[in-house]
Amino acid sequence: MPDASGMTPLPPGSTIGILGSGQLGRMLATAAARIGLKTHIYCEESGPAFDVATRTTRAAFNDTTALAAFAREVDAVTFEFENVAVETARHLALHLPVRPGAKALEVAQDRLKEKEFIAALGIGVAPFRAIDTAAQLSSALGAFDGPAILKSRKLGYDGKGQAPIAPGDDADAAWRKVGAVPAVLEKRVAFALELSVLVVRGASDELAFYDSPCNSHEGGILRRSVVPSGVLQDDLSRARDMAGAIARALDYVGVLAVEMFYLGPESPAAERLMVNEIAPRVHNSGHWTIEACAISQFENHIRAVAGWPLGSTKRHSDAEMVNLIGKDALDWPRLAAEPGTALHLYGKRDARPGRKMGHVTRLRPRS
Ligand code: AMP
Repeated sequence: MPDASGMTPLPPGSTIGILGSGQLGRMLATAAARIGLKTHIYCEESGPAFDVATRTTRAAFNDTTALAAFAREVDAVTFEFENVAVETARHLALHLPVRPGAKALEVAQDRLKEKEFIAALGIGVAPFRAIDTAAQLSSALGAFDGPAILKSRKLGYDGKGQAPIAPGDDADAAWRKVGAVPAVLEKRVAFALELSVLVVRGASDELAFYDSPCNSHEGGILRRSVVPSGVLQDDLSRARDMAGAIARALDYVGVLAVEMFYLGPESPAAERLMVNEIAPRVHNSGHWTIEACAISQFENHIRAVAGWPLGSTKRHSDAEMVNLIGKDALDWPRLAAEPGTALHLYGKRDARPGRKMGHVTRLRPRS
């Protein structure tokens, strides 16, 4: 049966093309293999996904000859990082389904567009201002009382391209720190915890949600995700509604991660959640779904891209996922021997500081 987009579910043996060769691509390719789908990774650099995919292409993202050859060899395309050029996604979409589409990329690549898009849906975001010059930054800081964060509009991730600013700080220094590029100034939110909603939207508009983990960051990089989060059920439902509305408004297909600040039960119910950012892809805060759910975020993303029915997102265990960053991964012999711990290593050679080398997931009986 063709789905709402007119695409017949891809039969086993079909090939999903994946732009990007990182660990997310590696886990997507592994999940695809479980259900008999092949993967073809396309990236400028070889990476963790190259070790496990059926085929690989190493070429520039603007190499139209290599992209055309790739498009001929795959049945649908997805991506595992959000900085894929919108033009590349549009070009491929002329020939075959690209899921999620160029619109999700366009919104997620620009923090200003992202905040405006989300706010226009009536969903809370931290108070923000567009900043294009150092002079604008000085005057906006005057209007914001209290601490703020300046973030470059584009190419920021894991806390990069950001400068915290406290009242009285030098605005010029912050402007230079983000690279003197178009930016967004955001009020620093005094949140109780950070939460992410992992929503998957199928090609026929069905929505499914994983339980929302509570996430902690160190130096702007995710360190730990825990489910259950301890957040009140009504607030979790509200968080799901917000993420579902964003997925529908983007006409999204696949897994979408919506990162939120939770202000805690002392705040008025309607103001307890603010969206920080969206990631139009599978997400680090959902790695625990491999062990704690019947169908992981990776398999459900592949299912959605292939036009298959979504699988169960139900969680059968409590779980904690901890990233192995840099030299943490050198501890693998101890972690491999730890009872009840699932160790994932991404096959990266250099354990550079700040580099995600692997993760561990620890399960406990469901509380
Ligand atoms: P981002 O790159 O926007 O995900 O930011 C990385 C981390 O910085 C977030 O996960 C938060 O821990 C923190 N952060 C970012 N924006 C804000 C904000 N407006 N208020 C408080 N903390 C923030």
